Amino acid sequence: MRALAVASVLTIAFAALIVLGAVWWSATRADTAAKDRLFQTVSFALKDAEKKIPYDQESVAYWDEAVVNTHDAFNETWVDVNLGVWMHTYFKHDRVNILDAKNRLAYAMADGEKVADPDRIPSPVIEDLAVQLRHNIAEGALDHFEAEETRIPRIQDLGIVDGRPAIVSVMPLVPHTRGVVQARGSEFLIASVRFLDESFLADLAEANLLYRVRFSRADDIKPKEQSYPLKSRAGSSIGRFVWTPKLPGTRILSEVLPVLGACLLGIGIAVVFLIRHLRRTYTELVSSEAHAKHLAFHDALTGLPNRAYFNSRLDSALDDVRNGRGQLALMFLDLDRFKQVNDTLGHAAGDVLISNLASHLSAALRPGDVLARMGGDEFAIVMRDVRGRTEVEALCRELVDIVSKPHDVGCGQAVVGLSIGIAMAPQAGTDRSELARRADIALYKAKRSGGQHFEFFTEHMSQSVQQRRDLEIDLRHALDSGHELEVVFQPVYSVGGTALTGVEALLRWNHPRAGAVSPYTFIGLAEDCGLIDRLGDLVLRRACAVAGAWDLKTISVNVSAMQLRHGTFAQRVLDLLAETGMSPKRLEIEITESTLLAGTEASSRNLKALRAAGIKVSLDDFGTGHSSLSYLMKLEVDRIKIDRSFVRHVGKIEQSDSIVQAIVTMAHAVGVSVTAEGVETREQLDFLTRIGCSDLQGYLLSPPLSALRMVELIASKGPRNEKSGTEAA
Ligand code: C2E
Ligand code: CA
Ligand code: CA
Repeated sequence: MRALAVASVLTIAFAALIVLGAVWWSATRADTAAKDRLFQTVSFALKDAEKKIPYDQESVAYWDEAVVNTHDAFNETWVDVNLGVWMHTYFKHDRVNILDAKNRLAYAMADGEKVADPDRIPSPVIEDLAVQLRHNIAEGALDHFEAEETRIPRIQDLGIVDGRPAIVSVMPLVPHTRGVVQARGSEFLIASVRFLDESFLADLAEANLLYRVRFSRADDIKPKEQSYPLKSRAGSSIGRFVWTPKLPGTRILSEVLPVLGACLLGIGIAVVFLIRHLRRTYTELVSSEAHAKHLAFHDALTGLPNRAYFNSRLDSALDDVRNGRGQLALMFLDLDRFKQVNDTLGHAAGDVLISNLASHLSAALRPGDVLARMGGDEFAIVMRDVRGRTEVEALCRELVDIVSKPHDVGCGQAVVGLSIGIAMAPQAGTDRSELARRADIALYKAKRSGGQHFEFFTEHMSQSVQQRRDLEIDLRHALDSGHELEVVFQPVYSVGGTALTGVEALLRWNHPRAGAVSPYTFIGLAEDCGLIDRLGDLVLRRACAVAGAWDLKTISVNVSAMQLRHGTFAQRVLDLLAETGMSPKRLEIEITESTLLAGTEASSRNLKALRAAGIKVSLDDFGTGHSSLSYLMKLEVDRIKIDRSFVRHVGKIEQSDSIVQAIVTMAHAVGVSVTAEGVETREQLDFLTRIGCSDLQGYLLSPPLSALRMVELIASKGPRNEKSGTEAA
């Protein structure tokens, strides 16, 4: 932009210089031409005057009467009228002298009047010329004239007469007929003087438009004046004509320059405006470009760098690491339960939460760190120049704390958590995508550990992720074929473990190479990769189809939170029951506390619909989560299953005993049934029976059994079982 301004100014200055130069050059040319013309004019005028005087004189000098009235008998009156006054009146001769044969002054006229008693000696210039003329005559000048070879002899010069510049012309008076004769050498001479000042100058000025013309004998020419030198025939200077020339160039210059100046000024101002306008547009362009750039590299909601920008920053930070300058930590952040904020409080609240968190998180960072929003509820941080893991851990703890505080989002409070996966460079590599992959694996691990947690990448994690990927492929395959998946049933007993009243359906996966895969592994995997619905349907269908035929009061099926979130879940269950002919009253679904906690509109609608149809809902793993008794109070469940971890400590830790007892008392108080799971010892069974826990489940009574074994079991205990079932009811 600056270059453009400079270039424009230079161009204009250059153009102005050229125009001015051209104008000035042509003005000077015009002036010189005008000066030359004036000089020529003056020269011509002078030559004209010089040429004219002898012609004038000739009109009276070649005349019999002039000879008769001077040579023979000097007739002063006639001379005065015809040679003196006449010459002044008609030819403007300023002085006329008539010289006799001896060059003495016989008559003198000055300015049209006869000089009364003139000096007998003429002016030196006249006398010199007279002498020369007589010399010429003596040399035969008159003979040539009479032979008609030349005109009347004459002599002429420029000189000073009476202190004034003048043309002086001398000529002999000669008869024009043969009637009058005069001896050679005795001729009278007529001398005319035409002054070159005053009237001559006035005429010259008028005829040739000369301005302030004057005659000067001194060297006093001013710079603006022009002069014409007057020189005698002998070459001596007698002064000069001086005038002030009217210079058209200078005049044009004086007229054109202001206009030109104004034009240039106008152009200059226009250009200045143009440049300023350009500069403004340029600045706007630059800022809009910067804005566009900002938009391209920043997230619109939070104003944080986006993925593209983050990657470029990470690349340059990794360059430093590769060059041995320090280490860095790449952190991937993911909010826990953000989806629920969106689902329950609305997307606007979700946006408010994200942008609030963005500013809180960036406030916690050190100046050189970069925080970016990678999309959705995912953020990333590059910590440069990290001294060690402790520094990263400290920041992670701070970030987790910041995020897990309740946040006001306008229409309510949002509670989310934060999971962080960290990969350090150079320890975990210095290639961006590899490092990112590893941070991602660490994040995944952190998420799987239940959130609110951060994990540093380890090689082991990488392997487990690859294993998970392989496992996912295998699980899909298993679902497609259906052969590797089996539903087993774990008996549930009542009346001190004597009466078989129900079963819990548990899924088994017999992997062809890995053998039995724990449901904890593949259920989670199915949830992560979207296979849980198919898996859940398979269990429900088989449980109803197989166990529905058994003479048991309750068939329990585990349902994951994800299944329950599907709007059509309840209807699918009812359809399945109708299909298999099992009564809804015999079906119990087991959900975990987190399912209720993280419940969406859809899940609570599903639960309501299921319960309305007579299906029971039991709260699994009771005591491991928040264990709020409020579900019991609100009568949202029909049963609770005391988690194995409490049962395990029964009889060993006194506190545990009291808690279990309290839970059972409380549940019974509000009419909720209680099952204790994981009963492995006689003491546990006795204690639980003593405190009134009605239903028991565990390896002590029976491990999960295949359908076939289950059928055998029911057959062997058939009659007693039936009786117990009735007793329990
Ligand atoms: P859960 O619902 O708490 O199931 C009880 C788990 O405890 C079962 O493990 C069972 O084999 C085990 N168990 C029973 N008695 C004892 C005992 O005395 N001692 C010990 N140590 N363990 C005992 P399993 O079958 O490995 O299932 C693990 C979890 O996987 C289940 O926990 C349940 O949450 C989930 N799961 C299993 N099958 C399904 C299913 O079909 N659908 C869903 N959504 N989840 C399932
Ligand atoms: Ca269960
Ligand atoms: Ca359980």
